[in-house]
Amino acid sequence: MTFISSINDEIDDKPKEACGVFGLIAPGEDVARVAFFGLYALQHRGQESCGIATFDNNNNIHIHKEIGLVSQAFDETVLAKLKGEIVVGHTRYSTTGSNNICNAQPIIASYNDYGIALAHNGNLVNANSLRDTLIKRGYSFESTTDSEVMAKLVIYEMAKIDKEKNQINLKEAIVNAFRQCKGAFSVSIATKDQIVAIRDPDGVRPLCIGITNKGHHVISSESCALDIVGAEFVRDVAPGEVVLINRIQKIDSTFLTNEIKPHHCIFELIYFSRPDSLFRGLSIYHFRKELGRQLARESFVDADYVISVPDSGTPAAIGYAEESKLPYSEALIKNRYIGRTFIQPTQMLRELGIRLKLNPLKDIIAGKKIVVIDDSIVRGNTSKKLVKLIRDSGAKEIHMRISSPPVQWPCFYGIDIDSREQLIAANNSVDEIAKYIGADSLKYISHEGMIKATGLSRETFCTACFSGEYPIEIPSELEGAKHRYETAKG
Ligand code: SF4
Repeated sequence: MTFISSINDEIDDKPKEACGVFGLIAPGEDVARVAFFGLYALQHRGQESCGIATFDNNNNIHIHKEIGLVSQAFDETVLAKLKGEIVVGHTRYSTTGSNNICNAQPIIASYNDYGIALAHNGNLVNANSLRDTLIKRGYSFESTTDSEVMAKLVIYEMAKIDKEKNQINLKEAIVNAFRQCKGAFSVSIATKDQIVAIRDPDGVRPLCIGITNKGHHVISSESCALDIVGAEFVRDVAPGEVVLINRIQKIDSTFLTNEIKPHHCIFELIYFSRPDSLFRGLSIYHFRKELGRQLARESFVDADYVISVPDSGTPAAIGYAEESKLPYSEALIKNRYIGRTFIQPTQMLRELGIRLKLNPLKDIIAGKKIVVIDDSIVRGNTSKKLVKLIRDSGAKEIHMRISSPPVQWPCFYGIDIDSREQLIAANNSVDEIAKYIGADSLKYISHEGMIKATGLSRETFCTACFSGEYPIEIPSELEGAKHRYETAKG
């Protein structure tokens, strides 16, 4: 299948999430089928490609990867071939490496007859130097992803330990390998006899562990995937932790370092994670509503209705409405099935733009003062189309309120915000952005307000795309992207 076009990309300029990972060790179960439904729940984390790899009792690896959505890539025939008791799965959006089938995950690598299947969410900031070193050691690469670098690094360490001690030691190989990795990594690895969860010492991307009613352990990027497969949330994988779980469900935990300083991506709370996933025991929905409440306290404006840009803006809009005592109404109806398509829109449809995705309720909007809540503005072009759509529906006044601060800096930890020239807030004042998008007023939540809404300390989070303060050092080879500047008004 050739990936031709994405209407979503044209009508949605939200930053794109890197990936979702899912793993399970469940002797006697149809693990591929469970992984399918787990990945289904993690589809929002990556829609470009997906894959499932299983290990059977005879140490055979079965794998299927495809460009496209989980529902397009797998059917009964494919799942039937994915035999085994241990599984790892992945949904991908490309942040490192292009959207090519060879970059799809899981990545398979092996030392002698010991194979691993690796799925990764995040982004290594030192992937290039690790890759160069591995190439010098004689390793070759089939993909352009940092995930393959990790897989090959584990294999290299495994071979080294075998040479020195004449034994295969997965745990030691993983710890040695991931101690060399810098950046964001939430990883699940499957082998013939274990499932492993690894999280970077900053805990940038989420990763959690659940358990099924049969006592089988599940690893998932978000807890929403545990719910869908009937598993109970047990706990998060701690920042810097390596958790190995074997066939009899025995857990072995170790840490990559003693210097653990969590810096969770605050954008996960604002936009990326599903609202029904948990962060520190509370739903993401709860945090988004609090952001909306704080936004109302900071930038109240009298209006007839508070409306949201669905779906991600909705919890904040409800919070804003509750705090400001203004009525909340649905006013933009989302076509939930437009999603990814393999069909090119005609020029006429392309011109409809955002209307393919959002249809306004004119009888709610016409003649009214409207507060529109969205979670973020990246390039500004979608907000401009959105304001026009609401204006064309007869709104008297349009006041945009954004439940994140201005996005001004690129992300190097697995989110597709590449350089400052893409970011309207890096190059324009808030008033200039308001003028550009055509709103009567525009206000963002303050940086302090965003932190306050979480109820946690500033140090708990990475906020680099808002503040420019990067918790994990950016190597000089990537520094250029941090400072690239150009006027970008569209
Ligand atoms: S830079 Fe922004 S998107 Fe990237 S990890 Fe930090 S908070 Fe998240």
